[in-house]
Amino acid sequence: MARADWEAVIGLEIHVQLATATKLFSAAPVSFGDEPNENIDPVTLGLPGALPVVNARAVELAVRLGLAMGCEIDRASRFARKHYFYPDLPKGYQISQFEEPICRGGVVVCDVDGVEKRFRLTRIHLEEDAGKNVHEGGRSLVDLNRAGTALCEVVGEPELRSPADAVAYMKELHQIVVALGVCDGNMEQGNFRCDANVSVRRRGETRLGTRTEIKNVNSFRFVGRALEYEIDRQIALVESGGAVVQETRGWDDEKGVTRSQRGKEDAQDYRYFPDPDLMELTLDEAFVERVRSELPELPRARRDRFVRDFGLTPYDADVLTQSAARAAYFEAVATATGDGKTAANWVINEVLGALNKAGLDVESSPVSAAALADLLGLLGKGTLSSKMAKDCFLAMYQDGVAPAAWVAKNGGQITDTGAIEAVVREVLDKNPEQVQELLSGKDKVLGFFVGQIMKATRGKANPQQVNEILAREVESRR
Ligand code: ADP
Ligand code: MG
Repeated sequence: MARADWEAVIGLEIHVQLATATKLFSAAPVSFGDEPNENIDPVTLGLPGALPVVNARAVELAVRLGLAMGCEIDRASRFARKHYFYPDLPKGYQISQFEEPICRGGVVVCDVDGVEKRFRLTRIHLEEDAGKNVHEGGRSLVDLNRAGTALCEVVGEPELRSPADAVAYMKELHQIVVALGVCDGNMEQGNFRCDANVSVRRRGETRLGTRTEIKNVNSFRFVGRALEYEIDRQIALVESGGAVVQETRGWDDEKGVTRSQRGKEDAQDYRYFPDPDLMELTLDEAFVERVRSELPELPRARRDRFVRDFGLTPYDADVLTQSAARAAYFEAVATATGDGKTAANWVINEVLGALNKAGLDVESSPVSAAALADLLGLLGKGTLSSKMAKDCFLAMYQDGVAPAAWVAKNGGQITDTGAIEAVVREVLDKNPEQVQELLSGKDKVLGFFVGQIMKATRGKANPQQVNEILAREVESRR
């Protein structure tokens, strides 16, 4: 049977580390890269008698994310204990939310290969992260710096149908959490990572197949590759008469395979129950409305607005909305010049092009939005030709020269018709043979004349005027 006879079903659980200064239930600092066990306290250690107190900022960020995703925000949610035994979990349970999460429903809208798709969310809940087991020199050590860090787990419905869907969905969510300031988005540090659940079924089948869960994937590329591999593995397994077992697997990117890690627990294995140390989490209307009123424009809405208001192509709009800083830079230039398309071309090709070579983005641009707008103003007025504008940009970028200063030093474009005519006539007078050749139909000679005229004006004559005047003057000599 061919892969085309099968359908993949994928649902992602994405862990978003909330950008809080302290942990979800204590004042221990959240900070990456410190000495092991530096950022801990009695609550993190789960010492007897230490009581959790919920971090208001984490709640606010969860609500912010929920509102942005179109979730229903539960005005009363509850924390639950999820029990499992592992050395990086000192209490023996993780505080999470189970039956009463803070956000329900919601949707991720994203483009997959140019087609807009909507994927529903099941829920978003708050939970604390675990610590880290370090295995070195034949010993196993535990670092609890990360334990207790605030996470939002974004649980998607099993509606994704391909690795491409999954990658697009994950990228869109990543852009959103960063734009919201809910998460720093650092995937290398594991601050945005996913568990990818996947099953296969024959086309036409409506029941879900048995799934496996690929744990803790912290790169878009890995998610795509891991899912491709896992889908093929499951299809081959079922086709050869085997059955998929529900289990947790890990992705080995070097070998390009997923590997079984452990059997997958069901909810009853975790013995969930409401955490008696924490009160019901209630949100009042004014709080939710305040958070709603503070939502920034989301990347997708901004993209659409750039297409609509500035006449950009969806592709350009996409490039320019990759970060809030890029969008703000472009918008400042476009608004100042009143010409969105030209602004987009210059920001993408010149500014981002130059920065990209140095591995930088617009935050580090030596050319400010205002300076670029000045340059484009001179280009628009015809003071500079596009060739001159590019030279000027280079001087701005490399030496911090202001556009006006560059023009003062190098002169602007020659647009005076009389002046250009004089040069054209002089060049034609000096080259009577070539004039005859041109008149007899040898169009190639045109390039020679344009070259001579540009040389005589040191590249400053307006090219369009040169072409017009040259054609007219040659014709008058027939
Ligand atoms: P948990 O993994 O914590 O037990 P759930 O059972 O609610 O939680 O499922 C978590 C994720 O698995 C969700 O994103 C859901 O879309 C996805 N999922 C559930 N069943 C399947 C399935 N048969 N195939 C693929 N994905 C699935
Ligand atoms: Mg899971």
